[in-house]
Amino acid sequence: MSKPIVVSGIRPTGYLHLGNYFGAVRNFIRMQDDYTCYFFIADIHSLTTHPTPTNLQAGVKQVLAEYLACGIDPEKSTIFIQSDVPEVSELYAFLNMNAYLGELERTTSFKDKARKNPENVNAGLLTYPVLMAADIIIHKAKFVPVGKDQEQNLEMARKFAGRFNRMYNHELFPIPQPFTFDGGDMIKVPGLDGSGKMGKSEGNAINLYEDPASIRKKVMRAVTDAGPTTPNSEKPEPVQNLFTLLKIVSTPDVVAHYEEAYNNCSIRYGDLKKQLAEEIIAYTEPIRNRIIEILKDEAYLAKVAQMGAEKARASAQATLNEVKSLIGFKRLF
Ligand code: ATP
Ligand code: MG
Repeated sequence: MSKPIVVSGIRPTGYLHLGNYFGAVRNFIRMQDDYTCYFFIADIHSLTTHPTPTNLQAGVKQVLAEYLACGIDPEKSTIFIQSDVPEVSELYAFLNMNAYLGELERTTSFKDKARKNPENVNAGLLTYPVLMAADIIIHKAKFVPVGKDQEQNLEMARKFAGRFNRMYNHELFPIPQPFTFDGGDMIKVPGLDGSGKMGKSEGNAINLYEDPASIRKKVMRAVTDAGPTTPNSEKPEPVQNLFTLLKIVSTPDVVAHYEEAYNNCSIRYGDLKKQLAEEIIAYTEPIRNRIIEILKDEAYLAKVAQMGAEKARASAQATLNEVKSLIGFKRLF
């Protein structure tokens, strides 16, 4: 029996951070043996924020090295760069004809970005979920391992896939499902600034590539409050966020220790932060060292990208041929 197909990607707009890692990449790594995996670097998506050519190139190389350093194996999985597979852009153009202004304008991520950057509300931002749908369905993916923040975009991909199938009366695309391990919830890694998710564009991220001194500095500066005064009180969001991060990088006994200290009001946030910083460093430092090594090997990066482009294109071309034939494109020559 063939393995279920999985697709996921990350935009090369900065370094990979703990949110990317625990929300998405760590799941990719766990899936490589049992699924047919396509992991890509979403360089076309990143154009919505107008990177310079130099930054774009550096970003792509960085994320490629980071994928490899995290443990994505190019022999098991297909790692590729989105713009190396032009078929995706072609499918995006077709899907756009059946994506409606109202539904695109209503997505939370569009509204958020439009509110934060009112001077750059471009059509690429509006149709971001359409390109994302093309990325996923062009490989006929069944599963998409992404963080909680992508839930609605993935819902749009499901909608566009189903709409195409119905329009041409053919079950061409599987309806992609979010993937989580053990049927758990989609993950949202919080930032250290008190509220919301950790994100590249939020400016609150701890990167895998971050050096230990900088991690310590960022964690020690995390927002907290004056501390609990009544036993077993509920944690305010900034404090809860520290605990959420600790749970992600640390062991249950360490978390239990600080929970108890919080509940009996003896907690010292300084201790909690110190512990959290050291646990993050223990997690990220080996990855950081591998990133540094891999970035030196341009020939290896080029080989991985080429191998990935070839595999991803073969899969994309096969689907696109079916799409074109269903739509009714027919060569006259
Ligand atoms: P940007 O701020 O530019 O949107 P980002 O940090 O959100 O960048 P993306 O490239 O948009 O990163 O997302 C890549 C993947 O990482 C997606 O699967 C997304 O769900 C996941 N991800 C990003 N941030 C988090 C987070 N805080 N918690 C869980 N998953 C996350
Ligand atoms: Mg994002």
